Amino acid sequence: MAQTPMMNQYLKIKENYQDAILFFRLGDFYEMFHEDALVASKELEITLTGRGQGEDRIPMCGVPHHAAEGYQAKLIEKGYKVAICEQVEDPKMVKGVVKREVTKLLTPGTLMNSNLLAEKENNYLFAFATDGSNFGIARCDLSTGENDITLVTGDDSDLLHEIGTSEAREVIAPLSIEQRLKDKLSSNPAFLVSYQENVSDLSEYTYLTDNMKEPLIKEAYQHMLHYLLETQKQSIKHLQQPVTYHADSFLKMDVHAKRNLELVETLREKKKKGSLLSIIDQSVTSMGGRLLRQWLDRPLVNRKKIGERQSVVRSFLTHFFERESLRDSLKEVYDIERLAARIAYGSVNARELVQLKRSLNKLPEMKEQLTLIGLEQKWLNKSELFQALVEKLAGSLVEDPPISVTEGGLIIDGYSEELDTYRDASRNGKQWIAALEQSERELTNIRSLKVGYNKVFGYYIEVSRTNTHLLPEGRYERKQTLANAERYITPELKEKEALILEAEEKLTDLEYQLFTAIRAEIERYVPDLQALARDISEIDVLAGFAATAEQNGYVQPEVTETRDVEIKGGRHPVVETVIKRGSYVQNEINLIDNLNMLLITGPNMGGKSTYMRQLALTVVMTQIGSFVPADEAKLPVFDKIFTRIGAADDLASGQSTFMVEMMETKDALTKATANSLILLDEIGRGTSTYDGMALAQAIIEYIYESIGAKTLFSTHYHELTTLADSIPTLQNVHVSATEEDGAVVFLHRVIAGAADRSYGVYVAELAGLPPQVTSRAEQLLETLETGQRHVSQTTNTPELVKEEVAATSMHASTQLTLFQTEDVPEKKGRSKKEDAVLQSMSELDLWHLTPFQALEKINEWQKQL
Ligand code: ADP
Repeated sequence: MAQTPMMNQYLKIKENYQDAILFFRLGDFYEMFHEDALVASKELEITLTGRGQGEDRIPMCGVPHHAAEGYQAKLIEKGYKVAICEQVEDPKMVKGVVKREVTKLLTPGTLMNSNLLAEKENNYLFAFATDGSNFGIARCDLSTGENDITLVTGDDSDLLHEIGTSEAREVIAPLSIEQRLKDKLSSNPAFLVSYQENVSDLSEYTYLTDNMKEPLIKEAYQHMLHYLLETQKQSIKHLQQPVTYHADSFLKMDVHAKRNLELVETLREKKKKGSLLSIIDQSVTSMGGRLLRQWLDRPLVNRKKIGERQSVVRSFLTHFFERESLRDSLKEVYDIERLAARIAYGSVNARELVQLKRSLNKLPEMKEQLTLIGLEQKWLNKSELFQALVEKLAGSLVEDPPISVTEGGLIIDGYSEELDTYRDASRNGKQWIAALEQSERELTNIRSLKVGYNKVFGYYIEVSRTNTHLLPEGRYERKQTLANAERYITPELKEKEALILEAEEKLTDLEYQLFTAIRAEIERYVPDLQALARDISEIDVLAGFAATAEQNGYVQPEVTETRDVEIKGGRHPVVETVIKRGSYVQNEINLIDNLNMLLITGPNMGGKSTYMRQLALTVVMTQIGSFVPADEAKLPVFDKIFTRIGAADDLASGQSTFMVEMMETKDALTKATANSLILLDEIGRGTSTYDGMALAQAIIEYIYESIGAKTLFSTHYHELTTLADSIPTLQNVHVSATEEDGAVVFLHRVIAGAADRSYGVYVAELAGLPPQVTSRAEQLLETLETGQRHVSQTTNTPELVKEEVAATSMHASTQLTLFQTEDVPEKKGRSKKEDAVLQSMSELDLWHLTPFQALEKINEWQKQL
């Protein structure tokens, strides 16, 4: 069918933005059509209408332009891209279809608008190039101008690791590898962006890429720049010099470790509350909040640098009043980093510039406090640089300007003579009009005469109908008739009105011009403002560390060159805050001399995993420069942390629990060094008892023989405790518990030696399992412990059975082992059926199996036997 010219224009534009939702400006609305309308109406919960009739009717929906930002934010949040198509001509000036262009492409990884960004989080765009075995990586936060580059050698999993740990919002990938990655990366529609064939002209940005020797890095960086230009449709001058980042200059933790240790969010609810960050983040600026997240993402491995941060925290601790007054000043400091980016970008408004001025005004008092603390050398050394900027802003902008920069009211009197003239004209005119009511009343003797203004007719003199006969002839021209009044104008009034209107129009135009000139003039401060932002965020984070240390009773850990770990009175930083005050049971961790591994046994809920996490968190806190929850702590610098903890969330993800467990363990075994920390919680739990125990033992032996990393290994396989006899670097410890009146009481105290029993049945009781189950378990236990030891030898030990009763709700497979224990016949040769089952078992693709499918499979095999 024949399209309307406007629809033709729409389709043409849309062609270039297939993967975005196109907001098409039509007067006061942004409209969406076709597929976009279907998606947007659903995601935004707005009414879907249509344009045209019958078969030609096309789906359509729209949002008012003044509310568009909120809707765009929602779509971005859900992972869509939004192309904003504006009218780029004044509709009054053209006949036919107004020219329209996409002026901005909003994508999750390239946001600039502070309303769309989380204050205390960076927003990363990630790009990479590869030659098959190396990855050049570039990463950037457009909203702050920060960006870094690195080269990683490895395979897809190393790349995925980098993407995962940098919390990238969007990834730009070469075409060759895009398809392969699609399945492995998020299903988020905008997440993966493919390389554009032609890279735009980047000559303006060569200063950024000049020093890049590595071609893969350069390629990635150029594609990133290209994408930024494509989306922003304007030059991006605020990108800082890229920082070269070496993975081994930081404590390495993979995605699992970061999640398991709940550094920035909790495992299950994905909330900040309950994470390590929530405890140690006492930053009062957004900049500080972001820097702390960066530090947590990349803790240090350099003793000297750790020591430098510690010494600052110490100074802040010993100067309570100065520090708190410094933090009070910091509270008044806005997000200078993002403001600087918006200045460079030309999108900063007057209100934000006033915020910048107020922030800069805080510098002298901050400097003063730093001097009192003895840290004046370290930061804010260039603050006098900003004197001229503050003066400029104070001498030009009013104290409380509106957000809009096009409607006037921005510039103070006395800044521009021309502006003052217009203002005088407008003011005088208004004064004259204000006085008019009185003089007209006197002239006409009509006491109810009024002077008013409306948008359509402008200024008028209003006289009620009953009084119109009192008006002198000739002077008044009737303009508008109301029910019981008439409105008039006079030539004089008309003239003044014209003057006022003209002055006001000129005023707003001129104010806008003056404002953009100011904005352009202060652009040169951007690099210094970025450096200042960095200073302020460091002060903020470290002063926050001191405040946290003070509130929670942390100590400065001693970072040694030996490999000894010696923690006295250690606590878990998060758990200690959620349980009753003072009820946390402090524990020692000693891995000194040749001792590398603690094998931790004891009842479920006894505190094993808390103890393990406690050590890892203490290490992370130490290596970001924070103090730690302990009475005394001595630690080496670790290079990597590996964890295998918890299983509940893996079940939900549908991956085979055991496979996930083994994959994470593989990472630890292949990548750990003697300087790493490995935490393995209940390894082997996801498979049968024999398998599990055998694997656990082999893993311990491997770590002992081939790695030598400091390792905490918790297990419910009591048999493993005998390993202490053959492995000299291993020590048994257990979490203690006692029984009181038939109930178990956990002491959460970790002491030397192996646990004597595991209280599984009691825990099951605590958890509310039906009494039939627990008493039956007790009964079985007794049988096993007394008469049928040999059975337990071939299947399970008493402790194991008890543990597994407790775990029945989680692992259906343990139920099977449990109830089969009583009469498993000893078999010599194998039948055909059994061979077939074995065959099918060995061919099973565990990667693509959910736990439930696995159960079904087992059921099938049982039927076959
Ligand atoms: P396990 O790993 O042995 O099953 P957890 O480490 O999960 O046990 O601890 C179970 C609960 O016990 C924790 O949620 C915590 O509330 C409490 N807990 C653990 N360690 C301590 C401790 N040292 N002091 C006080 N309470 C603790």
